Amino acid sequence: MDADVVIAGAGPNGLLLAAELRLAGVRPIVLERLPERSNEQRANGLVGQVARALDRRGLAEPLGAEPGGQVPRPEYIFAAMRLPLQLIEDNPIYILPSPQQKIEAVLEERALELGAELRRGHELANFTQDADGVTVEVAGPDGAYELRAKFLVGADGGRSRTRKLAGIDFVGVTNDAMVSRTGHASVPSEYFDEQAGVLRIPGYGDIPPYMHHRSDRGLFVFAPFPGRPALVSTGEWDEPGEGEMTFEELQASVDRVLGTHLPLTQTSEFVRRTVGGNTRIADRFRAGRVILVGDAAHVHSAMGGPGLNLGLQDVLNLGWKLAAEVQGRAPEGLLDTYESERRPAGERVVMQTQAQSALIAPGPEVTALRQMFAELLTEPAVVQHVADLISGADIRYFDGPHPLIGRSVPDLTIDGVRLAEILRSGRPLLLDLLDGSPYKATDEVDVVTGSGEQQIAMLIRPDGYVAWAADDATDQEGLQAALSKWFQVRDLTRATT
Ligand SMILES: Cc1cc2nc3c(=O)[nH]c(=O)nc-3n(C[C@H](O)[C@H](O)[C@H](O)COP(=O)(O)OP(=O)(O)OC[C@H]3O[C@@H](n4cnc5c(N)ncnc54)[C@H](O)[C@@H]3O)c2cc1C
Repeated sequence: MDADVVIAGAGPNGLLLAAELRLAGVRPIVLERLPERSNEQRANGLVGQVARALDRRGLAEPLGAEPGGQVPRPEYIFAAMRLPLQLIEDNPIYILPSPQQKIEAVLEERALELGAELRRGHELANFTQDADGVTVEVAGPDGAYELRAKFLVGADGGRSRTRKLAGIDFVGVTNDAMVSRTGHASVPSEYFDEQAGVLRIPGYGDIPPYMHHRSDRGLFVFAPFPGRPALVSTGEWDEPGEGEMTFEELQASVDRVLGTHLPLTQTSEFVRRTVGGNTRIADRFRAGRVILVGDAAHVHSAMGGPGLNLGLQDVLNLGWKLAAEVQGRAPEGLLDTYESERRPAGERVVMQTQAQSALIAPGPEVTALRQMFAELLTEPAVVQHVADLISGADIRYFDGPHPLIGRSVPDLTIDGVRLAEILRSGRPLLLDLLDGSPYKATDEVDVVTGSGEQQIAMLIRPDGYVAWAADDATDQEGLQAALSKWFQVRDLTRATT
């Protein structure tokens, strides 16, 4: 075998998967058809529980988090409506404010420092699979060649060739109704009220920056990101535009949406017009030894930035399971849980992004629906529900007798050390914060004892999800069952005193 796993695509998801596999001692080769990292304007940040998940790999700070633990945002948006997060007790909206180029640079650095092999300018052309592995045909700069690996992962984006060659359908809809226009532009300083923190547009009114704003005629966003050019975007329904996109077209679109002239100054060559979009999900995430992650498995509207919250958490879910499979230590059926756990997460994103698309559409009925939603969004329970949905905090992979079982582990501090830091090795962890005799460590599972905010024992999977938890030492059977189910470990018991 040339590698344990071939990964097609060095976007954020392919790069994080390479790092995860290296962390577990697996040898990946990443094929990337572009000779250099792309400069395409895509993500403006990472939103939701992914920020906590990346903290558990030491990647939050390189991506813009303050040192020493993240603080959730007091406000966010849902379908261009304010989400007053200060109303809720358990705010799950964390943001890492890095653009896609930075995200890819940080993840590439991590993958390479852990020893992953990245081949740029090498394109997956075709593959065949058999009972023992996958043979990948590669078009490289010096010609075609073959690679043999145990698994192939398609992280090759929404148009994934891996998915098409595997014969996996991409089920959903293409919607060509909305035309988005984007460019880099500044607005005159007198239009910005620093104290109120809003754009004050004569003849229109106030618009908070960064937030999607819906008028009767379309959508408008002004995002003055610190340290990079401000972004101006619109969304319209009956203005298709033709020929090459120009800055003048963006200006005209902004003026139509606002119903007044907002003088813009172009600050870079970048302008883009996008017509419609796809909402689709692969009908299988796996075909034998071929597995899909990220946009290759699902695409949807970018509204609210859910793409990498979903994709990077697919990767964290898959990485340790695929590593265990490759190394012959996976319990029966472990790899199948990648799809059974992550498909519902993908379906929730499809649902909430389609709901947002419906709620920003034009028309008086939608305006009425938005008014009703805005009233509902003054209720803390509704805000909590929507925030949990868009951040992925409502994910519970499986049930158990303790409320934390199947959920993302809470942020605890153990004897002054943040749990997120303890989890960075990516190894299964039995955290024992109960008084009494500690559990014995094994080669497969680390044990950490100490004291924290609560008396609890938890078995934590490498992706940060709780496999088992108990508030006292009575549920030893549950622990043994979880150890065996997830890690094929049987002999880890609480030592008798
Ligand atoms: C305008 C826009 C704004 C967005 N904003 C946000 C946001 O704010 N927050 C957020 O989380 N998400 C956002 N997203 C979504 C986010 O960009 C994607 O979810 C993310 O890039 C998906 O990562 P990926 O690694 O799955 O695929 P990609 O980033 O598409 O990477 C796939 C890689 O595979 C390579 N490739 C393709 N075919 C082959 C082949 N045959 N062989 C080898 N290599 C191949 C490609 O060159 C590419 O480098 C936005 C998307 C868009 C379009």
